[in-house]
Amino acid sequence: MMAMRVGLYGGTFDPIHVGHLLVARAVRERLGLDRMVLIPTAQPPHKSPDDLTPAPHRLAMARLAVGDEAGIEVSDCETRRPGPSFTIDTVAQFRADLGRQAEIVWLIGSDSLRELPSWHRVEDLVDACRIVIAIRPGWESPDWMLLRTRLRADQIERLAAGMLSETPRIDISATDIRRRAADGLSIRWLVPEAVERYIVEHGLYGAKKGARSGVRSDG
Ligand code: ATP
Repeated sequence: MMAMRVGLYGGTFDPIHVGHLLVARAVRERLGLDRMVLIPTAQPPHKSPDDLTPAPHRLAMARLAVGDEAGIEVSDCETRRPGPSFTIDTVAQFRADLGRQAEIVWLIGSDSLRELPSWHRVEDLVDACRIVIAIRPGWESPDWMLLRTRLRADQIERLAAGMLSETPRIDISATDIRRRAADGLSIRWLVPEAVERYIVEHGLYGAKKGARSGVRSDG
């Protein structure tokens, strides 16, 4: 039997948006993964817990977004686990479930590389799975030297080889979506319709029914 190949994609997903979704699908197709698992994080060690939408909402939105898309699923393994979500623990959990033969791919956006040196046991993580990197607009040239504080040269080389060149480059961020919702601007097309409806129904991010289609005055 061929070994299972599984992609794991962690994030706050607050909210999940089409950037996440199109990248997740493209990476699954490109690498020929059996499954791509989106994993909303519980307490990200790098973000303040006060600014985070409660996990049940973030999970619900991720599930609505994915729907019945083949090969893509949502896992609550991190939000169920008490304490902060460490990627290395999640990889260990999937490794225990899938067995030694399975290939485990951890997907990050290229902007996340700058945070990698502060990840828990990152030197073990890069050995425990294959990290692949989707280029995010504005983050085309990572500063690999920053990783030297934690990783050996051969580990950095392996990471650099995990940069994927052909994934869609979509300049959408959850921060911008939250800001738009708070400003009363439409978030249509940035998130799947079912997610937009969920955000409005639950009044997340200060969203109100009937967001005006006004122009944001930035200047
Ligand atoms: P925020 O604006 O709140 O920081 P975000 O849009 O960056 O949110 P996260 O949930 O923090 O979304 O991201 C989860 C993972 O997805 C991270 O590895 C991030 O780099 C990646 N990611 C997010 N948006 C994109 C995008 N548009 N293209 C490629 N990767 C992305």
